Amino acid sequence: NAYLELQGIRKRFGNTHVLNHVDLQIREGELVTLLGPSGCGKSTLLRCIAGLTEIDEGKILLEQKDIVNLAPRNREIGMVFQSYALFPNLTVVENIQYGMKMRGASKEERHKRSEELLGLIDLEDKRDAYPQHLSGGQQQRVALARSLAVQPKVLLLDEPLSALDAKIRKNLRTEIREIQKTFNMTTIFVTHDQEEALILSDRVCLMNKGSIVQQGTPEELYTTP
Ligand code: ADP
Ligand code: ADP
Repeated sequence: NAYLELQGIRKRFGNTHVLNHVDLQIREGELVTLLGPSGCGKSTLLRCIAGLTEIDEGKILLEQKDIVNLAPRNREIGMVFQSYALFPNLTVVENIQYGMKMRGASKEERHKRSEELLGLIDLEDKRDAYPQHLSGGQQQRVALARSLAVQPKVLLLDEPLSALDAKIRKNLRTEIREIQKTFNMTTIFVTHDQEEALILSDRVCLMNKGSIVQQGTPEELYTTP
């Protein structure tokens, strides 16, 4: 049974059809990668799910409920972008607590949750640092913690590793997968890197020109019989 289901998603910008009837079903706790060349519509699809871009047609069902008409902050969907997009004037711990604060969580609750997440991303010693004093990999871990802090039902990761050096990229890739499994977090991970998709995913969806053209487990797609 699908936890998140996309039905017939279409999106046009002007005369350009960016998403052509995208159907996708994701189980609870599954990590699905969207793999495809630049410009094929991966980011747009994530933005549509998050509610940052309006769709022209289709349904987005989360636990069987259509969320298309909900505002982004009511969708219970977290998103991490390629460029870390932390608040530069807030410290690490303030960044992590931001969403919880907006949602009216108590100080104790915020503290408990942010400490837990700081431990998970191994940045306890940076709690009072500002983003500009963190490496790219550290910033991206904070961005991940910030998204998880509000306990979203689905996590969307839009090329979260692309801006990082190769070595850091591999470490963080492993960390993301561990954290995703720890929380049994239903996740869509966008990448144009085949190796990344292969190593990370429960299932890979190949996207081309606004459609999902093939999908399967990494083994199904990349092992030649
Ligand atoms: P990907 O993430 O696979 O690289 P995108 O979803 O970013 O692809 O882009 C898909 C296509 O949609 C591209 O041709 C891009 O230029 C176009 N596009 C994305 N956002 C907009 C927008 N806001 N207005 C017009 N065209 C857009
Ligand atoms: P990505 O790294 O995901 O491919 P882009 O650089 O294509 O991102 O897009 C960055 C932003 O610009 C996004 O908000 C996207 O919607 C918007 N955008 C992309 N292409 C166009 C376009 N042709 N016209 C207007 N906005 C666009």
